[in-house]
Amino acid sequence: MQGLMMNYQLTIPTILKRAEQVYSYKKIVTRQPDKSFHEYTYADFVSRAKKLTLALQRLGVQPGERVATFCWNHYRHLEAYFAIPTFGAVLHTLNIRLFPEDLTFIANDANDKVIIIDKILLPLFEKFKNNIQARTFIVISDDGQVPEGMYDYETLLAAENEASFVYPDFDENQASAMCYTSGTTGKPKGVLYSHRAVVLHSMGAALPDVMNLSEIDTVLPVVPMFHANAWGLPYTATMVGAKQVYPGPHLDAVSLLEDFEREKVTLTAGVPTIWLGIIQHLEANPNQFNLTPDMRMVVGGSAAPEGMIRNYDKFNLRVVQAWGMTEMTPLGTMANLPSALKDASDDAKYAYRASQGTPAPMVEIRARGDEGLIPWDGKTMGELEVRGPWIAASYYNAPQGADRFTEDGWFRTGDIVTIDFRGTVKIQDRSKDLIKSGGEWISSVDLENALMAHPKVAEAAVISVFHPKWAERPLAIVVLKQGQSATAEELKDFLMPKFATWWLPDAIEFVDSIPRTATGKFLKTALREQFKEYKVGVS
Ligand code: AMP
Repeated sequence: MQGLMMNYQLTIPTILKRAEQVYSYKKIVTRQPDKSFHEYTYADFVSRAKKLTLALQRLGVQPGERVATFCWNHYRHLEAYFAIPTFGAVLHTLNIRLFPEDLTFIANDANDKVIIIDKILLPLFEKFKNNIQARTFIVISDDGQVPEGMYDYETLLAAENEASFVYPDFDENQASAMCYTSGTTGKPKGVLYSHRAVVLHSMGAALPDVMNLSEIDTVLPVVPMFHANAWGLPYTATMVGAKQVYPGPHLDAVSLLEDFEREKVTLTAGVPTIWLGIIQHLEANPNQFNLTPDMRMVVGGSAAPEGMIRNYDKFNLRVVQAWGMTEMTPLGTMANLPSALKDASDDAKYAYRASQGTPAPMVEIRARGDEGLIPWDGKTMGELEVRGPWIAASYYNAPQGADRFTEDGWFRTGDIVTIDFRGTVKIQDRSKDLIKSGGEWISSVDLENALMAHPKVAEAAVISVFHPKWAERPLAIVVLKQGQSATAEELKDFLMPKFATWWLPDAIEFVDSIPRTATGKFLKTALREQFKEYKVGVS
């Protein structure tokens, strides 16, 4: 139609081009495996990302094909974040914390063609390498020594001339990246992000009432680049031209505090576990670090405890809660204090900041209870449903996930919430039976099935209980078969060979019976209520 706007495609290469033209002098800093600091400019970054694009094309990767990464947060991972989607291929970030069996399934389901691996992660990679279809491996190393049959990242880049790079034009609805989410049952499910979703998400996330990110910021994503694209921060930060700092494999409290201080970080982001560790260090050593006053610490992935938000305020550090999901690129809501609460009591302010906040522009919310859509009265509970331009419309290759989408095109989050008249979302419970420990999922169903395979166990339910470091940890509630006796140690030993150590329940409680719903399912809400004061210690 005449008289309308240009049909400009919202693609990731447009972010790269702007970074090159406008922010060439800005810095990107990385903490290397040996703890030294690597520093270069956006100009270096763009030049190397272009060379990586050319190298991948030379290896025969076609638009639409997947290139996976198995890496920590660092500048070369950022190069991959841009180089892969820039020529229409799909960035698939493999989560290094998953089990080899899951990684095998995920790499094959995604049909990964090439995998880029950190040299220090090769021992983990070896555990599933021979079971996957991909046969082209690129290793990121600092010494150029890579195993036979694998390519060295730096050698590949050195062979390219960036002058042959041309910014491509393509449809914004093409896939740019993919991540997998864990499910309560069945296999992990893939989420494919379009270029349009990533670009709109970056613009939405940068807004003042969302992450409030701009060129003057220095951003350090602690949230892994292998989990929900580090909440989109690599794209958002590059779009606005912020200075970027990547922590590499060093996620302990002292290393992160050193990074914050040295680079004068103004915004960082991660799961509660990270911030719970850091506050303990700050409280024990209040004068050790000189941090930027009002540094914003975005916390999400699990609920931020109100006490933690209060404790950080004492150090002039501002925890801001965000809620999101892998299926949502991932940002949904954010809890920046609204003007209406400016003169409210401290308790009211903290209560708001401990909520999940209000939806970002373009994210529509509603919640459904037993009687249909719930009123926004802050009291009635329902399952949160969302829709918007950066929310998945279906899962990749996974018909079993179809029930997560409503007939009228909304995504069912599985989170049970209340919503108040200002659109403030407060998560009350999770309908999914997953436990989120240190930002990573543990399936209660898998643990229950394994426990119930024990000859002395009649029934077992696993719920999450609060943990001061990991936010959530599994507690197993077990009913023994009549006349049997068993110890918690005995059951743990039984589980040991089947699970990674961090999946094992922190405690096992023996009861006479487990409450059930009308349809015979374990009534986990009742169990969670019964064990809500249950204490598991720091380990
Ligand atoms: P993931 O896809 O791994 O990012 O997990 C998404 C899920 O994490 C959500 O459905 C919530 O259950 C949980 N979650 C994320 N952010 C928060 C938050 N701020 N508070 C409570 N739960 C959260």
